[in-house]
Amino acid sequence: MNVGIIRCAQTEDICPGTMCFKVIRERKLAFEPYKNEDIEIIGYVTCGGCPGKKAIPRAKMMIEKGADTIVISSCITRGVPIGFPCPFSETIKDNIEKLNVNVIDWTH
Ligand code: SF4
Repeated sequence: MNVGIIRCAQTEDICPGTMCFKVIRERKLAFEPYKNEDIEIIGYVTCGGCPGKKAIPRAKMMIEKGADTIVISSCITRGVPIGFPCPFSETIKDNIEKLNVNVIDWTH
């Protein structure tokens, strides 16, 4: 599986993505179902800032670079770690799903 990860631009200064990389490496939480698969990280990008419009072209870019799965990280969908889920997360997810790619909508 080749994953392209999108995270919230507003958490960039307080989280370098450590837990996202850890759960992928250890096949925990969102990645537990893939414990028998190789996972290559194609890219790790932000949504570009509110309202997240750059998430879509950046998802397309990662697909062009070989991603078969787009991961929307938990900072967007669950508000981890600042306790504030993205108010645009459903729109972001809906539009990425239109790209006909596998979508995982959380990380940890
Ligand atoms: S659009 Fe959502 S994911 Fe992007 S910076 Fe704003 S709150 Fe974060």
